[in-house]
Amino acid sequence: MASHFENALKYFTDAARVMDVSRSIERLLVTPMRQMKVEVAIKRDDGSVAVFDGYRVQHNGARGPFKGGIRYHPEADDDEVNALASLMTWKTAVVGTPFGGAKGGMAVDPRQLSLGELERLTRKFVDQIHFIIGPSVDIPAPDVNTNAQTMAWIVDQYAKYHGFEPGVVTGKPIEIYGSQGREEATGRGVALCTKWALADLGLPLDGATVALQGYGNVGSWAARFLCAWGARLVAVGDHAAYLKNPEGFDAEALAEHVEASPERSVKGFPGADQSSAEELFAMDVDVLIPAALGGVLTDEVAAAVRARVIVEGANGPTVPSAHARLVKQDVVVVPDILANAGGVTVSYFEWAQNTQRFSWEKDDVEQKLEKQLRKAYDEVTLLARKRSLDLRTAAYILAIREVGKATALRGL
Ligand code: NAD
Repeated sequence: MASHFENALKYFTDAARVMDVSRSIERLLVTPMRQMKVEVAIKRDDGSVAVFDGYRVQHNGARGPFKGGIRYHPEADDDEVNALASLMTWKTAVVGTPFGGAKGGMAVDPRQLSLGELERLTRKFVDQIHFIIGPSVDIPAPDVNTNAQTMAWIVDQYAKYHGFEPGVVTGKPIEIYGSQGREEATGRGVALCTKWALADLGLPLDGATVALQGYGNVGSWAARFLCAWGARLVAVGDHAAYLKNPEGFDAEALAEHVEASPERSVKGFPGADQSSAEELFAMDVDVLIPAALGGVLTDEVAAAVRARVIVEGANGPTVPSAHARLVKQDVVVVPDILANAGGVTVSYFEWAQNTQRFSWEKDDVEQKLEKQLRKAYDEVTLLARKRSLDLRTAAYILAIREVGKATALRGL
């Protein structure tokens, strides 16, 4: 099985070949600029010592400071973080935010740690990487199993070395200069891309059926917006359960259920039937949204897909061979580097507000997000139509062009 990084590389090289990029420039653009692995040791509440591997990878900084989330997950490793860092390089370029690409990770199951242990872990991680992050160097954000609270701890720990600089991370709580609209931004972007992709196919959003994997930040907000705009969420699944309801879930009530559940899962939500991942991915729906982890759409899973549109809320949910199969099956795939770029777009707004020491109204953030994402969506779909390409290849071509131009202008 190909590694995460090989999968990410395949999408890059497919697009680079269409563009005729030279092999030396290709190598320059794919090689991560800096890969850091650190040991993060903490005292557990019971007095024992626990040691975790932490990673920060800075992939390409030609277009600006590095930018990318930090995830806490038992399967985080250098391969996954490398792949996700490269995705950020292309994502920030597609959507026109002035950043390069980075990612961080910690190989830990946060469900096994108390809140105090998680705080110590986060602070210790900052102790190890504080000298390679900063508002004009590298700006982390939340990702899987990290949130606004994690970002608040990072701000505080970073301040002990460098003074108070809220722009060192985005996705912060509003009280310490987070942005209005950031929490729901990625899900809003996923929902907007779904609406636009359906419209391009001449399909109404009102009554459209949706199957969704992952009901965390991205998935739950995407579901809430889509349901508010008239779509029907008929299947949902996460790390602990898969459920279906042909009548449609109440997305708000489901989000409250997850929030209140000790496992933070959809498990036990009343009025639904049990289902499975296989059933969810093969469901006869208009839209399928993977919004959990990478690599879930394998060849076998893709062969069973009956949805008309896939909108990639998660990073790297589709392996390259499955993507090729889906394109052949005439499924429209809105790729991660466009579909989930709402998060990094509002992260850019948050960073800009921090730099200006000035807060914007929520309406303003929402309008600017929609405008910036729509521009990127139009550029990608226009190129795809002009050159008969799938949306992913078109998005990569636009991104590689931008990063390539910046690299050439800045020089080696
Ligand atoms: P989250 O931690 O809030 O939610 C993760 C969800 O995935 C949860 O519902 C969890 O139950 C589910 N999950 C975890 N392991 C699973 C498994 N083995 N099988 C099925 N479901 C599983 O994380 P999030 O921020 O919503 O991120 C979800 C995806 O979106 C990730 O791929 C992330 O990289 C991507 N993403 C997030 C953001 C952001 O702003 N948070 C931005 C862009 C992309």
